[in-house]
Amino acid sequence: MAVDKSIDAEPYHEGMEDIGTDTLDTVLSEASRIDPYSFSDSDVRRALSTDDLGPEDFGALLSPSAERYLERMAERARDERLRHFGNSVCLFTPLYISNYCTNGCVYCGFNSRNKINRAKLDLDQVEEELKAIAATGLEEVLMLTGESRTHSDVDYICDSIALASKYFTNVGIEVYPMNSDEYRRVQEAGADYVTVFQETYDPSKYAELHPYGNKRIFSYRFDAQERALMGGMRGVAFGALLGLDDFRNDALRCGLHAAEIQRRYPHAEISMSLPRLRPFIHHENDKNAVGERQLLQVSLAYRLFLPYAGQTISTRERPDFRNGIIGLSATKMSAGVSVGIGGHSGQNKGDGQFIISDPRSLEEIVDAIREQGLQPVMNDYVRT
Ligand code: SF4
Repeated sequence: MAVDKSIDAEPYHEGMEDIGTDTLDTVLSEASRIDPYSFSDSDVRRALSTDDLGPEDFGALLSPSAERYLERMAERARDERLRHFGNSVCLFTPLYISNYCTNGCVYCGFNSRNKINRAKLDLDQVEEELKAIAATGLEEVLMLTGESRTHSDVDYICDSIALASKYFTNVGIEVYPMNSDEYRRVQEAGADYVTVFQETYDPSKYAELHPYGNKRIFSYRFDAQERALMGGMRGVAFGALLGLDDFRNDALRCGLHAAEIQRRYPHAEISMSLPRLRPFIHHENDKNAVGERQLLQVSLAYRLFLPYAGQTISTRERPDFRNGIIGLSATKMSAGVSVGIGGHSGQNKGDGQFIISDPRSLEEIVDAIREQGLQPVMNDYVRT
């Protein structure tokens, strides 16, 4: 399948920082040489017998041909996972503090034109949520907002992070992409890592799915991890929303993006997420666009191409699937999840972004991890 390399030529919106990097050109140019649909069985076998996988090998493992080699991929992924992460499984929970959004992503229930119950927690309410989560024993939290600089400005995000740092040893954020000086502020407030999903890496499809709002600027979003690292952030996470476009090409470009950032910023802690399109409020999607076998294939291919990268599996997936994948390729999972605004402490102020498929409590997930001979880990980072 040909990759459309054209990048929307829309100018950056006022205030958006252009860091002048050529990472996007490098990644899309590399991806354009690799067609995941072109690989044969022998290409897959060669990739599986290679110690240090290159981009071509990664493409082969994402190919339809590789679906016949999932068992061999899983065996090798399990070995790599064990070598680099032992038997630990990190646990965290997301905390949604606002669902106001100014973007128009056509696939999302938080889309600014959707009539949902909007809410933003004030700082007292944020603290109530944090206390409720901390009381469960979790030590890592990922704070999320919709993308509205008006409702969730950088001051509000910094104040919320500072509160989270009182209760948690590891704090991530998944908010709108920021400039490097803003990332420095949130890092100084206590954020450890930044997650930004590119959604789809095809610029034309991206333009079609993001008709307005700051998110429309493809390259500003693409460079977010790099700006975060320039701002002093320790870790950055990558993801394509699999099922929005051709998932094999999106996974290929997402993996190449992470690998290029790792090459340019060797000190960065890189991690991958595997979100898959789910049904959501006011817009039922075809949830089978990417089946579980395909999702597993992407997860295994990420593990083999990026052996040192963390990998998160979300509650969008079924308990059995999550139980299986943590022993093979994923290293981190969410637990005790509530996607509504204020849902952890029973405040229930606003609607959630998507439907979860794994409603298990933290205790149930801890038990399931132990049953597999794995070790649940609440904290893999000690603050000084
Ligand atoms: S995906 Fe994010 S940016 Fe897009 S509408 Fe939903 S919350 Fe807003």
